[in-house]
Formats: sequence, structure tokens, C-alpha cells
Amino acid sequence: MTRHYETVIIGGGIIGHSISYYLNKSGVHTAVVEKQTSGRKSTRAAAGMLGVHTENEGSGTYHQFCETSRSLYDELNEQLRELTSIDIGLSKFGMVELAGSQEEKERLLVKKTAFPNLEWVESPTLREMVPSLSTKALGGLYMKRDGHVEPRNACEAFKRAALRYGGELVEDCTVLEVKKNREIFTVYLDSHLLTADHVVIASGAESGRWFETTGLTNPIVPTKGECFSIKLRENPFKEALFFSDFYIVPKPDGRYIVGATSKAGDQTSHTTAGGIAEIMKRLFSFFPEWRSAELHDFWSGVRPGTKDGVPVIGEHPTTSGLYFATGHYRNGILLAPATGHLVANMITKKPIEPSVQKLFSPGRLTKKGEEIYEYSN
Ligand SMILES: Cc1cc2nc3c(=O)[nH]c(=O)nc-3n(C[C@H](O)[C@H](O)[C@H](O)COP(=O)(O)OP(=O)(O)OC[C@H]3O[C@@H](n4cnc5c(N)ncnc54)[C@H](O)[C@@H]3O)c2cc1C
Repeated sequence: MTRHYETVIIGGGIIGHSISYYLNKSGVHTAVVEKQTSGRKSTRAAAGMLGVHTENEGSGTYHQFCETSRSLYDELNEQLRELTSIDIGLSKFGMVELAGSQEEKERLLVKKTAFPNLEWVESPTLREMVPSLSTKALGGLYMKRDGHVEPRNACEAFKRAALRYGGELVEDCTVLEVKKNREIFTVYLDSHLLTADHVVIASGAESGRWFETTGLTNPIVPTKGECFSIKLRENPFKEALFFSDFYIVPKPDGRYIVGATSKAGDQTSHTTAGGIAEIMKRLFSFFPEWRSAELHDFWSGVRPGTKDGVPVIGEHPTTSGLYFATGHYRNGILLAPATGHLVANMITKKPIEPSVQKLFSPGRLTKKGEEIYEYSN
């Protein structure tokens, strides 16, 4: 017999599982379908920064959405631990965006006027905070409330919490096709069928085909990123450091994650020697003493970028019940809670802030002058 769900989510990364968590918590019976194992694609590769202020130059709808999402992590930290016993690794030590040139310093000082709660730290004080930092750093903007999480733990916690609320998970099954007939979607997996009242596309960098097959312009730009981690004898600092072309994220287990390259259009899964060498070069220009650090690991992942740099979150312009939640590029960990919350509110028909609806709307992908295809069979 074909199983029916109120919502089927395609993709078991942090975005799919966050949506499942908020939907099942609201009593909407939901299944996530994942073609491999949950949390092993872009989510697994992330450093986990919650860079509300590194990702915004001024306030506005996107900044507010980032703020909301990071604040949700404060409550999720406790709620997910209670439900699943998983520690999502929420760091409260803040982030510092550093200036490596006079031009960057001026840009950061302008940013400080946009966000008066951020604190400018002069170079000597910064070097007391961050031992072995070169004098190349001309100061930094301290973002006290921004931090990071452990992305794999956060994804796993969302997944298990959704299951605790009655959600279901179908792994090792690929969604091949989705069709709508009257008000019901049929979701064709490689092994069987499911039916649903709503379908959410949360397939990360592989989401592009779902725009194309539903008559929209494909906005997805898969963008490869490579990282490595090192271990230092002592843990010299706890703040995440964000430079113009690399970052360092200290994890509670003593790893320092250093990232990341960014290559638009590259979907390959291997880590290149050249990519790692490039980030090492950037790192050593600010931390020459770290050449002797113990290299711990290296990896890569493909970010779900978009052509206009904005995620796509919302209902298809003509196929009611079909939702997108993708294109989070380098902010999917930061934005997972707010995205899950937003999509759950959309599906349960709660009021949505119009500026948020507009910013992320799939309606912006309508092909001009062409009739929009609506699926049915
Ligand atoms: C190197 C690197 C560093 C990053 N650092 C940060 C950071 O510090 N902070 C931050 O906020 N973000 C960061 N990101 C970005 C973040 O990782 C992504 O935005 C986020 O993981 C996207 O989550 P997702 O669930 O959309 O995608 P994914 O995690 O890729 O999940 C999508 C899932 O869909 C599945 N799928 C695809 N097609 C199908 C199908 N047809 N049927 C079934 N399943 C399917 C895939 O197998 C996959 O598991 C980083 C990314 C990279 C690569």
C-alpha cells in the first residue's frame, strides 16, 4: 500500500531535517526522503559559523532573518538536547572580522556604524586576544553574539527530534519524479511510491532540476568549498576569526577548522592539493608560526549557491503545495532554524512577514513571457 504523508521533504541535509522538525512539532505528519545517509553532503562539510554580521554589511530583511535564526539556536540548544541528548556544540565566544588592509579597516568601521552593538578592537588588543596573530591584522570587529555550532550534530539532532515528534525518514532512496494530480502529489522513489499533500524541495546543490521540471528558471549555482583542520598544543583562542579570504573556527574538541575555497560550478567531490595549499598560504600569511601545527583532516563539499545570492524559500508560483527551501549557499547552517520555522509556518498557513515572503520568493524565477507549466498527470 502506498504511504501517504501530509508533507514529503526531498533531501536529508540540515535544511530538510529542520523543516521536518518544525512541521512534526506542529503536528504535521512528515517524511524526509534522503538518497544516501542524512547530513553527509554540504551539511557535513560546513564549519558551522553563525555569521550574522560577517554575512551582512547593514540591516535589512536578510540580516533580520539571520538574527532570528541565530537566536532560535539559543532555544534549540536546550530543546534538542532534551529531546535527543545531542549537544549541537553552540559556541558563545563570538566572532571577529579582521582587517588585513587599510581599505578593509575602513569598510569594517562603516559596518560598525550600521551595527552599533559591534565592538572595534585595535590591533594590539586583538593580538593579546589571539596570540601569534601577525601585525598584518590592523584590528577587527568583535561580534559578541555570533558564534558557531557543530553542523553534523545539529543536523542529527533535528533529524532525531523530528522522529521523536512522529516524523519519518526514508534513507537510501532517490526521488526521481514528483507529479500532482488534483490536490495530491505522487512522489516516485527508485523503489516505491509515496503520496503527499505538500512536497518540499530541500535537495541542496542538486535542487536545480526541480526548478527546471516545474517551469522555472534554475537559480542554483553549485559551488565547491575545501577546508582543513589542524590541532594546536594549547587552545590559544576561542573566538571564530573571519578574514577577507579565509576563516578559522575553533571547535571545543581542540580542532581549528580553516576554510574555505570557493569554486562556482564545480561539483566534484574530491579535495584538491592546490585548494588546500591556497588556504594554507592565506593562513600562514597571518599565522606564520602555525606551519608546525598538526594537520588533522581535510575535506570538501558543494554549497547550494544561487545566481542572485539569495535562498529560495516558499511556494511554487503556480503549483500550490509545492515548496522550495534551498540555495542557502554558505549560510545554510546559520539559516536552518529560521528556514524550518518559516516553511512550517507557510504550510500551516500562519501569517508570514511580507518582506520575508518577497525576498525569498520562488516567484522571482518565473520565465518572462512564457506560460508557466503546472504539473499534473
Ligand atoms: C566548505 C563549506 C563550509 C561551509 N561553512 C558554513 C558555515 O560556516 N556556516 C553556514 O551557515 N553554512 C556553511 N556552509 C554551507 C552549508 O553547509 C549549506 O548551506 C547547508 O549545508 C545546505 O544544507 P542543505 O540541507 O540545503 O543541503 P545538503 O546538506 O547538501 O543536503 C541536501 C540533501 O539532499 C539529498 N538529495 C539530493 N537530491 C535528492 C533526491 N533526488 N532524492 C533524495 N535525496 C536527495 C542529498 O543527498 C543531500 O543529503 C558551508 C559549506 C561548505 C561546502
